[in-house]
Amino acid sequence: MLKIQILENVYLNKNLAIKPDYLIHPTVSGNKFRKLKYNLEKAQSKNVKGLLTFGGAYSNHIAATAAAGKELNMPTVGVIRGEELETHVENNPTLKYARDCGMHLEFVERSIYKNKTDPGYLQQLMQNYKRYFIIPEGGTNELAIKGCEEILTIKDQSFDIICCSVGTGGTIAGLINASLPTQKIIGFPALKGDFLKEDICKFVKQNNWELWGDYHFGGYAKVDSKLINFMNDFKLRYNIPLDPVYTAKMMYGIFEGISSGKIPQTAKVLAIHTGGLQGIEGMNLRLKRKKLEEII
Ligand SMILES: *Cc1c(COP(=O)(O)O)cnc(C)c1O
Repeated sequence: MLKIQILENVYLNKNLAIKPDYLIHPTVSGNKFRKLKYNLEKAQSKNVKGLLTFGGAYSNHIAATAAAGKELNMPTVGVIRGEELETHVENNPTLKYARDCGMHLEFVERSIYKNKTDPGYLQQLMQNYKRYFIIPEGGTNELAIKGCEEILTIKDQSFDIICCSVGTGGTIAGLINASLPTQKIIGFPALKGDFLKEDICKFVKQNNWELWGDYHFGGYAKVDSKLINFMNDFKLRYNIPLDPVYTAKMMYGIFEGISSGKIPQTAKVLAIHTGGLQGIEGMNLRLKRKKLEEII
């Protein structure tokens, strides 16, 4: 089992706190730890040969799975979206890190990667990786949601609003399930698309939640100078780093919600810092190439 460190919420002011879940483990960060926890337990109890999962070029989930595998001495396979990346691993901090952790990277064409949940394709993969435990892209499944339900503690029941960023929806589903009906959960999708709401509904038992869809900044892993400036100001002011793909977009949305009054001044707000900091290095390489301001 991986050990977790529990940390107190950090207050930015009287009514706004951050849960520093990005610090729960040195290498398996934030919500990716929560999502892996019960999957790893199950894999270990079944005595599988290793873990196999899916992700893109900068995936936090790939990095976390590779790190967890290394710690648990369990072989890992990462099926990576995009064949062209195979010759660029050295220039991609996420993939390089995963490989250095011992993960075997299998690069597949985008048209094939699309089949990542297709039972026929998975069976075909399993021919090469017999007795490997498959974890879906982004790590979201029932066990992941169970792990995310543990993000909230009894003490967090004093908050009126709980905020998180949303990718596949697994994390917010766990938060919704663990919240009081009187609390409101607000999710900030990091990508465009209306499919999320339905995906989340499949996993939750309450309707005390909403998605604020205006803070994706153009799409998944897209950023602009406004967001980068916001992140850098935030870091200087509070000494808390944000990641460019998820938590910066959430925080930006929360600040705007508070200043516009959409979030009442008197509401007690808890923002979950889900991690993702490993993505900063890769993002900075891309920003540098485009001669744009980098993340500090
Ligand atoms: C993956 C990730 C998310 C999104 O989690 P989902 O469960 O896929 O919605 C949010 N924040 C960070 C930092 C992540 O790495």
